[in-house]
Amino acid sequence: MSAEEIISKIAEEVSVCTNCALHESRKKSVPGEGPANAEIMFIGEGPGFHENEQGRPFVGAAGKFLDQLLAQAGVTRVDVFIGNVVKCRPPGNRDPLPEELAACDIHLEAQIKAINPSIIVTLGRFSMNKFIPGAKISAIHGQMRKVGDRFVIPMFHPAAALHQAALKPAILADFAKLPELLKQARAAQGKSAGEKTKEETQQQNEEPKQLSLF
Ligand code: SF4
Repeated sequence: MSAEEIISKIAEEVSVCTNCALHESRKKSVPGEGPANAEIMFIGEGPGFHENEQGRPFVGAAGKFLDQLLAQAGVTRVDVFIGNVVKCRPPGNRDPLPEELAACDIHLEAQIKAINPSIIVTLGRFSMNKFIPGAKISAIHGQMRKVGDRFVIPMFHPAAALHQAALKPAILADFAKLPELLKQARAAQGKSAGEKTKEETQQQNEEPKQLSLF
């Protein structure tokens, strides 16, 4: 199965998933979208009202702000994969509960394995804590670090900047640094924009085979 087919299969599984209570109130699940060979993966928190209606990630006010931030950073949305740590909307946009994060992690892990991004940008503390447990977003936002074979860049969630005006300058400054951080990550990996190393491509082609064993 190709990475693209695996990503579609995960989306199908997510649409009928009942692994946690969030399935009870969802209208549409939001598996995430973007190319299966994306070099960069953005991972947010969970679907909001508009995402739950449309089944697509970051389409509400926070999504429009994210589009603006991406455009300013010279990143095209169609070139990156955008998803969330939970794929169904927490009622009233409350924080996802630990058991919901744990239940949905199987889908996110499967997506990361299939896409094998070399750079992950986390949006918000729940996504950040998956890769950098126990960290405080106020202390490490905008600072890239290596986690395993990948580079992780923790950012504030765009919705946080919309709700707390005081955070807006920080998120604008962090996204303004994104082109330079991407350049540094690519240089460290010895490649140019959008390119995957031979090893990453090989790994991406092998991992689906491993997954299909289960
Ligand atoms: S949030 Fe995730 S684990 Fe929970 S029902 Fe939706 S897809 Fe399944």
